[in-house]
Parts: sequence; structure tokens; C-alpha cells
Amino acid sequence: MLHVSEYRDSRLCRSIAERIAGISKSRMRIMEVCGTHTVSIFKNGIRSFLPENVSLVSGPGCPVCVTAQGEIDAAVDLAGRKNTIVATFGDMMRVPGSNSSLQQEKAAGKDIRMVYSASDAVDIAKGNPGSNVVFLGVGFETTAPTVAAAVLSASAEGVENFSVLCMHKLVPPALGALMRSDGVDIDGLLLPGHVSVIIGTMAYEDFFSEHRIPCAVAGFEPADILQGVMRLAEMTETNSPELENCYGRAVTRQGNPAARKVMDTVFEPCDAQWRGLGLIEKSGLRFRRKYSNMDAAKRFTLPASVGSMPDGCSCGDILTGKKTPPECRLYGRSCTPSDPVGPCMVSSEGACAAYFKYSRRLRR
Ligand code: SF4
Repeated sequence: MLHVSEYRDSRLCRSIAERIAGISKSRMRIMEVCGTHTVSIFKNGIRSFLPENVSLVSGPGCPVCVTAQGEIDAAVDLAGRKNTIVATFGDMMRVPGSNSSLQQEKAAGKDIRMVYSASDAVDIAKGNPGSNVVFLGVGFETTAPTVAAAVLSASAEGVENFSVLCMHKLVPPALGALMRSDGVDIDGLLLPGHVSVIIGTMAYEDFFSEHRIPCAVAGFEPADILQGVMRLAEMTETNSPELENCYGRAVTRQGNPAARKVMDTVFEPCDAQWRGLGLIEKSGLRFRRKYSNMDAAKRFTLPASVGSMPDGCSCGDILTGKKTPPECRLYGRSCTPSDPVGPCMVSSEGACAAYFKYSRRLRR
């Protein structure tokens, strides 16, 4: 039986869905940029509310999934260094690198620890003064400020054996690269809620002016997502693209200046490699000179590596909406959540893992 609030929500969702069906006449492909949206869409059966002409495709908004193969290889390399402890979020453990994964290295005896925050890694460094502790800095504008705060705290406390392998990425430059990619076929963008809380809608204004594609920032409840889809459908049908904030209870135009200030104090933009999108100008973060003593890439002189994608893995096409997971020939065969080939099947926010977990109909 439905709880009263779920009943109310499901009535609200049905009513928004009816409006979408009434508005939307033409074929429309909407990309949900954020991995948390992807999971919510599957978990709440959002596709079942939509008319057949409206389809949702996943985008490059799962931070683990877009981490380049060369970066995974660098993390595996670090785990093999003497007196080194690698601290990482759990999803990174199982992502296959070119020759090994952190999980395999841990099984082989390397000291790799799963943490829930960068400050946990600072604590590990304090407790292990004889070891170098490297935190794997993965994530978008939502995570980078917390990592920057840990760097500032480690710096203030003189924790010299702590460093970060900075692999952070920035969403707006990736949207531009996505729209410029060959073969991308998207009519509207559901923009990420969490990231937008930090960067604000103003961070998308240049992108929107250049590409004039319907954009809606949306929250993660089913009604939030449907509301975003409804506005995108209205914009498409009336040929009046807008950059709209449909998540006003959490997102403002300015975002969170305090969080951005912390991030900007420690990091600065740099060109970065994305899985699926390649090298994108000013789409990553690197240490500013003042904090470069905490830059693991400099401290350990890591070899430059682009790495090699697993044979047959279509993660690049999935992250740009060119394929859906079942269109990968390995999906559900040699690639499953218990034995993943690519990061999109590893991460809890990965499109392949979400398809596999929630969409039995689409399993092979
Ligand atoms: Fe890569 Fe597996 Fe997804 Fe295919 S199903 S794209 S191999 S993660």
C-alpha cells in the first residue's frame, strides 16, 4: 500500500505526465546529464509516465564514469608506490584500469582504503606519519569544494604526508564539448541539481547563449524530474528555448559563493581528459601553485598515460547519449555489476549499472 505522501506524489506525477502528453507532439530526446537523475529515473519508473515520442538518454554526469582511463592507471600506479596509502571513494575501487584495478591491487596486498570523504583521508595521514596518503579527488563541482576544504585543513595543520590526485571535472565546459561532438542527437538537457546548487544557473549562461538548446535544472524527486521534462517539452514545441531553473528550492542564479571560494582558493581550471568526450579545454581542476605541495601528480612524478579502453566497451558512446547500455554487445553478457568491464557498470550512478539493476526487461 502507498504511504499517503507517495500517493500524493504519484497523483502529482500522473498529473504532470498528462500535461507532458498534451504538450509534446514531436519526437524529443532529452539527456539527463546527472547520474543521480539517471538512478532516480529508473528507480521511480519515470519512463513509464512519458509518452512514446519523449525519450530520456543518459549523459556524462557520473564522475567515476567520465574519469579517463589514464587517470585510473595513475591511481593504480600510486597504489604500487612504497610506503603509500591510497584513500578513495568506494566506486573507484572496482573500475578496471588498462592492466589492473584498485580492488585487484588491494587483493595483492597494496594499502588501499575506502573513505567517505577527503577529511577521512587527512585523518588516515595523521594516524600514519610514516606513510604517504594520497586521496583520489574524483567528482564535479559538488565534491571539489569539500576536497579543497580538506586540503586547506591539512595545510593549516601541517599534515605533510597528505596529497590529492586531482581528477575533478567541471560540468559546463563538458556540455559545450558534448554539443559539438559528432553524432550527438539531443533536443533538451535536464541539468544537474547538486552541481547547480554550487555553481548556480549563471554558470550555464554562456553555454546556453551559444547553443540555444532547451535547458532545465531539475531536482531528484520524481515530480521534479517530470516538471523539468514538461518545461523542456513546452520549450521544444513552442520553439522557445530557455535556461530555466525548475529546482528553485535549492538552486539560485548565484549558487553557493562560499563553496566556490574554497574551491577557487585551492584549485584552478585546466584542460582535462574525459572518457567519451576526449580532451576538453578548461574542464578540469588542478592545484594552484600555493598548494602544489599537496598535488600527488607532482609529488610522485606520474607518467603521462592515456590508457586503453577495455575491448568492446561502449562507455564513451553511452556517456554521450549515442548508445543505450543494451546496445553495447557486452552488456549483460561479459559485463555485469558483479563482473564489470567498464566504469558505467561499476558506479552506482553509471547508466549501465542503473539499466541492469532496474530494467530487467532490457537485460539480455
Ligand atoms: Fe562498458 Fe559494460 Fe556498459 Fe558495455 S555494458 S558500455 S562494457 S560498462
